Amino acid sequence: MLKIEHLGIAVKTFETAIPLYEKLLNTVCYKTEVVASEKVNTAFFRQGETKIELLEDSGPEGVPGVIAKFIEKKGEGIHHIAFEVEDIEAEMERLRGEGFVLLNEKPKKGADNKLICFVHPKGTNGVLIEICQEIK
Ligand code: ZN
Repeated sequence: MLKIEHLGIAVKTFETAIPLYEKLLNTVCYKTEVVASEKVNTAFFRQGETKIELLEDSGPEGVPGVIAKFIEKKGEGIHHIAFEVEDIEAEMERLRGEGFVLLNEKPKKGADNKLICFVHPKGTNGVLIEICQEIK
């Protein structure tokens, strides 16, 4: 794995979280993107080599999606750590070989022009790990 590409942080609403992180990091949110397949809104901040990805549930009212469920259980906070890899298919193969359980069969299209795959937190001491590869 090359580096920590971003940290994913679950928030209740962008309305307050984006201005908060802009103040905290002293930088502007450079992109928001809807990941419709996951019912998640994302907002990105660049911080040197690494990014912060805020995650907001975009499911319909009363139908909690993954982020709403996460917040219900654990509250707002760090949701996942994403590592950049050069070849996601090869890395998935390697992780499977090491006995990790992957949450996707195949890489899927994530936000910010990435192919992504999640590693089940039960094999990683409760930490949700994402691996991602830039789509060239
Ligand atoms: Zn992510």
